[in-house]
Amino acid sequence: MSILVIGSVAFDTISTPFGAADDVLGGSACYFSTSASFFTDVNLVAVVGDDFPQQHIDFLSSRGIGLEGLQRAEGQTFRWKGRYEYDLNEAHTLDTQLNVFEQFKPVLPESYRQAEYVFLANIDPELQLEVLEQVKNPKLVACDTMNFWISGKRDALIRTLARVDTLVINEAEVRQLANEPNLVKAASIVRGFGPKTLVVKRGEYGVLMFGAHSIFSAPAYPLEEVFDPTGAGDTFAGGFVGYLASTRNLEESNLRKAIVFGTVMASFTVERFSLDRLRNLEYQEIEDRYRRIKLLTDFGQLD
Ligand code: AMP
Repeated sequence: MSILVIGSVAFDTISTPFGAADDVLGGSACYFSTSASFFTDVNLVAVVGDDFPQQHIDFLSSRGIGLEGLQRAEGQTFRWKGRYEYDLNEAHTLDTQLNVFEQFKPVLPESYRQAEYVFLANIDPELQLEVLEQVKNPKLVACDTMNFWISGKRDALIRTLARVDTLVINEAEVRQLANEPNLVKAASIVRGFGPKTLVVKRGEYGVLMFGAHSIFSAPAYPLEEVFDPTGAGDTFAGGFVGYLASTRNLEESNLRKAIVFGTVMASFTVERFSLDRLRNLEYQEIEDRYRRIKLLTDFGQLD
């Protein structure tokens, strides 16, 4: 089952304690769709400028990602500049240039309007809503956002969240959105905005999922070397929604498996800059890490 994603396609300039990269391929929709493409078909809706090179288009096509909804406009592609200190869980945004996204009007190709699985990746919540309004009868609408939009476009974001089933955001952003420091209380406030399921990304501490009946915790995959955390969250979401769409099962037990597939996908992205680690990833490596996480958290039954 194919997924529809709207989000950013970007040039990222990043510095971490271990190196730096200038104007590399990034953006929430790129990380998401590349990750999800290991599980199912993905159609991408976004805009790039006339500076966007063919080699990046070729890469996305090589992953089988549908690009009929990728517009090319006059002007510059979205740009994000970020820095990480030794605490790699926190990205410091140095600059955000919306560029061609400022004038972007998403118009979905007719075939995309039947999408059953929709992911509103991190982008202006007004654009997220415009896309949602064109989709006929989705089974699952999942969404991501960040501090930039929570503080800059809060009202639009609250309107979007009213129509979202599953929200996938960072721990600090849950607290900011709820205006509540206690995470458990904050989770129930945010679930009150609309999403029945809240997935909280906690960087190297893993993920917490707050559902209607239970809370689920998954650790991050233990890595000795984390090189660049950019895109970890979007790659996580790609594995999560990708697995759900490929299995067509939204029961809670399957959501838990999807969380672990998301965790595994993110563990690969952070090993290199940009999407580089995903370029030569094999599906077998994904399953191997899935099994290792299972062992990591298996402490047996009570006698
Ligand atoms: P994350 O998975 O949270 O590390 O997302 C990193 C990606 O988000 C980068 O590749 C950026 O290009 C993109 N990004 C950063 N700021 C924004 C924003 N305000 N809107 C949309 N995308 C963004």
